[in-house]
Amino acid sequence: MKITIAKSAGFCFGVKRAIDIALESAARSKDRVYMLGDIVHNENVVKNIERAGIEKTRKLNNPRIGSLLIRAHGSSKKIIEKAGRLGLKIIDATCPMVKEIHNIAIDMDSRGYKIIVIGDYKHDEVQGIVGQIKHKAIVLQGLADIKKKVPKRMQKSAVVVQSTQNLEKVLKMQELLKERVDDLQFFNTICSPTRLKQAEIKTLPKASDCIIVIGSKTSANTKRLYQIAKSINKNSYWINSPDELKKKWLRGAKSVGITAGASTPDETIAAIKERIQEIAH
Ligand code: SF4
Repeated sequence: MKITIAKSAGFCFGVKRAIDIALESAARSKDRVYMLGDIVHNENVVKNIERAGIEKTRKLNNPRIGSLLIRAHGSSKKIIEKAGRLGLKIIDATCPMVKEIHNIAIDMDSRGYKIIVIGDYKHDEVQGIVGQIKHKAIVLQGLADIKKKVPKRMQKSAVVVQSTQNLEKVLKMQELLKERVDDLQFFNTICSPTRLKQAEIKTLPKASDCIIVIGSKTSANTKRLYQIAKSINKNSYWINSPDELKKKWLRGAKSVGITAGASTPDETIAAIKERIQEIAH
């Protein structure tokens, strides 16, 4: 059986960087290092970081000694200010590409543009972006939201995009927004690793009998890769560990394509490849 792993499968630059910062600060810091929620959307990576000594916390409400690690997809200003008031130092592992989105939103908001964010309402990254600016932003998750949330006529608006959104959907939304906004400043802030992954997954399913997309069910970028793969090849599956792989998916398949979300470790990809090889023999 031919197994092809997409070149872009697995950790992106921003996730790798955040994990390195986390492990380094855990090793260096004498006081506690906290992370608010999960540093990246992958259970195994979070477990490793906790093992290295970083403590996961759900809420910041008591004064503490130590530092707060800001995850790859950033945080709102409110959270950072609150951490400061509680006595925590900030270790910022926000991806530079997400920082760039924050800077655009802050700049355009201060210039009087209504900020529109295309992204998943509840995602940390989207919460972090809307939490940077003084005025309320409009968040659009899908095409249907435009009618519901964007006035028919708007004078000026600036659009930024969650870094892991689906490019095709975003371009369609851009066209619809042009019809409603006179001065539309559109910043397509889908990051380069995401663009690369989405471009590769568009060709992989055509060339393979079966597609395996690897990543946590909490990972939005993995979900989008899976949706794209499934739309091209019905024999596409989304798993996060070798045990989830089903023999029947590979029955009759001569070629398998593998890709993985931005927070999926190489070890998981290697273990799933090994399991596919075992089944094939
Ligand atoms: S997916 Fe893109 S924006 Fe998000 S951490 Fe990775 S490189 Fe940065």
